[in-house]
This record gives sequence, structure tokens and C-alpha cells, in this order.
Amino acid sequence: MESKKFLLQERDIPEKWYNVLPDMPVKPRPILNPATKKPLSAEDLYPLFAEELARQELNDTDRWIEIPEEVRDMYKIWRPTPLVRARGLEKMLDTPAHIYFKNESVSPVGSHKLNSAIAQAYYCKKQGVTNITTETGAGQWGAALSLAAKHFGLELAVYMVKVSYHQKPYRRSIMQTYGAQVIASPSMSTKAGRRILTDTPNYQGSLGTAISEAVELAMSTPNCKYTLGSVLNHVSLHQTVIGLEAEKQMEMAGEYPDVVIGCFGGGSNFSGISFPFIRHNFSGEHSARFIAAEPASCPKLTRGVFQYDFGDEAGYTPLIPMLTLGHNFSPANIHAGGLRYHGAGSIVSQLKQDGLIEAVDIPQLETFKAATMFARGEGIIPAPESSHAIAATIREALKAKEEGRAKTILFNLSGHGLIDMAAYDSYIAGDLSNYEVTDEDVARNTESLERII
Ligand SMILES: *Cc1c(COP(=O)(O)O)cnc(C)c1O
Repeated sequence: MESKKFLLQERDIPEKWYNVLPDMPVKPRPILNPATKKPLSAEDLYPLFAEELARQELNDTDRWIEIPEEVRDMYKIWRPTPLVRARGLEKMLDTPAHIYFKNESVSPVGSHKLNSAIAQAYYCKKQGVTNITTETGAGQWGAALSLAAKHFGLELAVYMVKVSYHQKPYRRSIMQTYGAQVIASPSMSTKAGRRILTDTPNYQGSLGTAISEAVELAMSTPNCKYTLGSVLNHVSLHQTVIGLEAEKQMEMAGEYPDVVIGCFGGGSNFSGISFPFIRHNFSGEHSARFIAAEPASCPKLTRGVFQYDFGDEAGYTPLIPMLTLGHNFSPANIHAGGLRYHGAGSIVSQLKQDGLIEAVDIPQLETFKAATMFARGEGIIPAPESSHAIAATIREALKAKEEGRAKTILFNLSGHGLIDMAAYDSYIAGDLSNYEVTDEDVARNTESLERII
């Protein structure tokens, strides 16, 4: 009998991250200084980010970047992660498709986010930084960074989107257990937060607002840097350990994916599973498809505009070339908190513009139906975010069945949902609904963007 699980050894943890920028047929436009509209240099980013991270952000020449020994050592706590053939799900779908998933839910914090949190905390520590700030949606990034900060002896303040602070109280407890300070955003502790609370006292927060608060605190605190869990190039870079391991494991399974799927918030786990495979598309060896699965309530890839926009609500960040719904877009309070972000990272946005990747948007109820099926077939309760990738996988597997064709699908299970059971409760009780974004919503939020492109 064929093994269902493909396991690597500690020595197989990648020694280098893969930087897709040098291989891209069309590179993304540069990030800009909002005041001068001039491209920013790495030095311009030093006040905000650790210097090494700023250099990684703009590095479009080195294809491979060494993973520091201290970072690899910490990866060894849970990496390499398993690749699993989802035979249970295949059987339930009665599909000829072969479905594989990379299980990033086995990290101590339950998601892929730790891959970059460790790297970011390490570079801050190495530079002598003492304090870091960040934002978190569902709390996955905050939890990961709390653990990483503690390991490297950094003080961490986390702005957590208010709706998640209440929907997911246990992620707050996890962060506090690791020793972080957690503040519900919007808060009265920053100018950005006070402005929003004065205008809209009941505002339940968004990632864009929480980023503004975290950036403001970092910029006004000595020896303090800001860190971000998604969207940026260096975050995607760190996540490529996922795809690099998966590449070896697919080889063990004797297959190569026809389709690679990841759920999509700002792009880090999708990039992590995809970029190591897409490099073989660029070199002409393979022609896999890549599908980013986003929520229908926050459809930046499928319905956003391609334009320069801020990464945050208040407009503190550089201008990033992105597919965006506008930095003032306020997504519905869906349970996939990690996907409630208005824009997509510049690399993924460019790949989508150039037709090199695809995107689908999925209604909330379909994601929970998919999640429930996956749980019953594979035994793992997926994160509401990851369920978007599962739903997209199921669509592809059913298409294969209709066409009577075999197909190999690889998706990233970005996290487990054991701390999201309140969301499952609502689904079981029939209390969840779909949220549609109207064209007017998108137009209203994007028309105020400056037309730079
Ligand atoms: C944060 C998060 C996401 C979305 O972020 P990306 O940067 O797009 O990967 C997806 N899944 C889980 C479990 C998350 O915590």
C-alpha cells in the first residue's frame, strides 16, 4: 500500500529562501515615497524595518538568500512539515484528481506565519532593536510573532483588529501567554486610532487601521521597529520554505502538480507554496496553473483595481503597486479574519496582471462547507482562511471528475481552526451568511486613489 504522508528529515529544511523577483518576466513597479512619488531605496525603509529586511524587500538580483543558522534552528521545532495525499477527501468527492496538501498547521502556533515571524524577530534582534510592533487580524500573525519575539528577547506590542479581538479571544490569550502586549484596534493609544474612533465610534477595525496604529507606535518609539506578517516581498520570501519542501515531497510522491492553490489574504502563504514551482514555469520546464483563493467579501485580486495604494488605512506606509479595493475599504466581518485585507502584495499583483496566476473569489458558506468536508475526510479542522484553498481545490477536483481527467492538485493548508470553533458553531447553527461586495462599493473606495499607473 502506498504511503499517504511524505516526510522529510531535519537536514532537508531548506538552507536558502527562493527570491522570485530576479526570475519574473515583468518585475513589479517600485514602491514610492508618497510625498515625492520617487522610488524608495532600502535606506529609506530603515526607520521602519530592520535593515536586513529592508534590503531583502528590494533585492531583485539574488535568486537564493541564505537562511541564518539561528532561524533554521528554530524551524527545526516543527519543520519540515508533512505533505499529505488527501485520500479521504478524494474518496468523498469521488474524483480522479490526486489531491495533496502541505500541512503548515503543525507549527506550534497553528499556522504558516511562524516561518516569517522567526526571521523578522531574528533580524531585529541582530541589529540591536529592543521593541517591535505589529498588527494582527485573526491573531495568527500576532501569535507567531509573540513566540518569535520571546525567543529572541524582544518586547512586542500587537494591535489586534477589534472584531477578531472579540471573535477569537483565545488568540489574544495565546499572545499574552507568550508575553506580548495586545491592544484592540482601533484604540485611543494612537492618533490614527483616535481619529477613526472619533469619526466612527463603533468601528470594528480592519487590518489597514491596525497597521496604521502599529506603524505610528514604531515611528514614535526609540529603538523600535515595525513588522508585517504578509503583503511585503520579504515576507513572501521567508514563506518559500513551504514550496521548497513541497517540491522535494512531490518528487517523493512521484508527481508534479498541475495546479497549485493557496488562500489569499495579502499573499504570503500563496507565494510560499507557489513561487518555488512557478520558477519552473518561467524556465519552460513545466506549465502548472496557480490559483489564489480569496473571500468574495474582500475580492482584491478578482475585482480590485491595479494602482498605487497605501498598505494601511491612515496612509503612513510607502505607496505599493497593487491590486487593491482601496485602503479605506472596510470588509465584512467574515470569520476568515486573516483574509480581510484590502490589497495584494506587489509581486502577486504583477503576476496576476500578466496572466501568470489565476484568482477565484469564494463565498463564506462554500468555504465552511468545504472545511466540514475536509475535516470529515482528513480529520483536521482547517482554519477559516485555509478553507478558501480547500473550496478552490474541491472546485478543481469536481471539474476533473466532470471532464473524466486525472489531475494533480497541491494546496497549502495554511493553518488549523481549533481556535476558530466559534465560527464553526455559527455555521452549524445556520447563522452564517455570504457577503457580496457591490461594484459601487469597489468604485467608491478606489476612485479616490491617485492615478499613478
Ligand atoms: C494570515 C493567514 C492567512 C492569510 O495571509 P497570507 O499572507 O495571504 O498567507 C491565511 N491562512 C492563515 C491560517 C493565516 O493565519
